[in-house]
Amino acid sequence: MKYSILTKTYQELEATTKRLEKTEIISELLKKTKDLEKVIYLLQGKVFPKWDERKTGISSRLVLKAINSATGVSTNNLEKEWVKKGDLGIVVEEQIKKSKQTSLFKTKLTMDKVFDNIQKLAELEGKGTVTKKIQHIIELLTSAEPEEAKYIVRTLIEDLRIGVKGGVIKDSIAKAFSKESKEIEVAYNLTNDFAEVAIAAKDNKLKSLKMKTGKPINPMLAIRVESIKEAFKAVGTPALVDQKLDGFRLQIHKKGDEITLFTRRLENVTKQFEEILPTIRENIKLTECILDSELVGYDPKTKKHLPFQTISQRIRRKYDIEKSAEETPVEINLFDIISKDKESLLTMSQKERRKVLEKVTKEETRKIVITKKLITDSEKEVEQFYKKSLKDGHEGVMIKSIESEYVPGRRVGGWVKLKPTKENLDLVILEAGWGEGKRSNWLASFTLACRDKNNLLTIGKVGTGVAEKEAELTFEMLTNELKPLIIEQKGKQVTLKPRIILEIGYEEIQRSPTYKSGFALRFPKVIRLRKDLGFEDIDNLERVKKLHKSQIK
Ligand code: AMP
Repeated sequence: MKYSILTKTYQELEATTKRLEKTEIISELLKKTKDLEKVIYLLQGKVFPKWDERKTGISSRLVLKAINSATGVSTNNLEKEWVKKGDLGIVVEEQIKKSKQTSLFKTKLTMDKVFDNIQKLAELEGKGTVTKKIQHIIELLTSAEPEEAKYIVRTLIEDLRIGVKGGVIKDSIAKAFSKESKEIEVAYNLTNDFAEVAIAAKDNKLKSLKMKTGKPINPMLAIRVESIKEAFKAVGTPALVDQKLDGFRLQIHKKGDEITLFTRRLENVTKQFEEILPTIRENIKLTECILDSELVGYDPKTKKHLPFQTISQRIRRKYDIEKSAEETPVEINLFDIISKDKESLLTMSQKERRKVLEKVTKEETRKIVITKKLITDSEKEVEQFYKKSLKDGHEGVMIKSIESEYVPGRRVGGWVKLKPTKENLDLVILEAGWGEGKRSNWLASFTLACRDKNNLLTIGKVGTGVAEKEAELTFEMLTNELKPLIIEQKGKQVTLKPRIILEIGYEEIQRSPTYKSGFALRFPKVIRLRKDLGFEDIDNLERVKKLHKSQIK
């Protein structure tokens, strides 16, 4: 397939904001194409499924260099244009239009070529990698038409700007192959790969899609409740009450001695937590299974559990892994089992799944345990358990329906969570400002936004809670995270791709006309960087309103 067919689709998608029209456009392409896999990935601006370990590792800087080589325009001038236009894709499109090269000697770009070259970027390693990566990009840009170059660059910097999220892809696959959206969603939650789902839908094989040990599935999520009464109403009685531990979600896949670990966002973190693999091998009496757990840090001296931020650094760590494992050891707290010897346990009840889990686990304190549970229909007992859980330093409790199936990826109500009401918000950084004086090399003030469906609405600015040096979170660290995400710079203010999520504490939520959400935070303070969260986890306006209301009472 010619790449131009895809770029034409991109253009059409960019030209409409209507979800139905987008669905129509994509489903037409899906019906036509012979290469569903690549089309689906490229429509999402990707070349790998999201759980794949391979990453292209391309910064805007590197793309800038490649554009410079391909067009002969200095990086300085390119940067100026970039600031003006706010989109590197448009910059390259205009430069290629202007460049004198005729398209006479150009070979027509195929989708395969674009896909393969971008995928190859992830495989390059060792000496001279940067040069080779640039070479691959130049090769694409020099054979691209202006319009094509625009989308190649946007794909490279992971900012396709065609307004296509998972929901639209899901509906388009359903429409193209005459399936229910719900069927597509169920299949997606098992595989986390729209390409695989689309192929199965086309071949009428959705039902035979199975989860596979080694490929992560979307974890089950919980709805928030404000009281035990509300919890009982949601999950029924008796209910299974669990401590809600302050660590991070870990999905454990065991296939013989081979173990793979995934975070809630399906990132593979096996290498980062290698020290716990022998424990899993020795203490889980099953050849093959998928387990659900919370990984909790503890103090190596006192053996007491520690809050999440003490181990959060370990999730991304690439070097000194052994040292960090000694300094901040972790305990596996199992709370569910999703499959057993290739058999899916998704439709088994919570109560039965817990029984299986208890049967196959050999517990060992500070290595691998099952979360403390209580099965009760007494509000008073839950109250006591909740208080004790908080006293022991946990976040609160999870209250689970004993009859509930394991429903991947959805907040369906089989699980609810109860935490103290003075709640932090998880907000995304939309804009930032360069600091003054000794902070002038850093981004030092951050404009935050909450979510309203797929839109982001500003809710305040924060500068406190970040340190100048030697701390959990410094301005330098945040600046390094944010720099590659800059879309546009005006004076001292930069607009960013909304990727970095901060947990924010505050004194109060107030109504405010200043921000788009209609609310502002009084005395906001950065509590921590939440690299474990993604777009869907950004707190929504609904929640802000609810918290605002609960303050008034
Ligand atoms: P939240 O992050 O506030 O939406 O709460 C949901 C998260 O709590 C899950 O994704 C888990 O990481 C964590 N969690 C802690 N303890 C448990 C538990 N016993 N059962 C389920 N999830 C738990």
